[in-house]
Amino acid sequence: MKLSYYCKSCNKKNFYQTKTKDRFELQSEVGNEINLNCTNCGTINKKHINRLSAEPNRLYAIYGLVIAAIVIIFLWELGYISGLTFTIPIYLYFDAEKKASDYNKIMVSRK
Ligand SMILES: [Zn+2]
Repeated sequence: MKLSYYCKSCNKKNFYQTKTKDRFELQSEVGNEINLNCTNCGTINKKHINRLSAEPNRLYAIYGLVIAAIVIIFLWELGYISGLTFTIPIYLYFDAEKKASDYNKIMVSRK
C-alpha cells in the first residue's frame, strides 16, 4: 500500500511504500510511530501510523487499461469485441480504491 503524509516543515506531500495490507500489520512491523524523512526538505517527521493515509494504487488500473487495449486490438483482428474487456481496468481501479479506503478506515489503538 502506498501511504501519504504531509511534511510538518514544508507541507509537501510525501509517500511511504509498505507491503502491509492494514494498519495492524504496519503496527507490528514499525510500531506506533514511524520516522519519515521528507524528500523535499529532509526534515524527519515523526508520524503516528494512524496519521498516514493510504493512496489507491491507480497504476494497476493503467496496466489493466494497457492489457485491455492489447486485447481489443487482438479481438479486433478477429472481428470480435467483448464488452467484458473494458470491465478489467474498471474493476482494477475500483479494487485499488476499495483497498485504500479499507486501509484508511481501520485505525490502530494507541498502546
Ligand atoms: Zn519537508
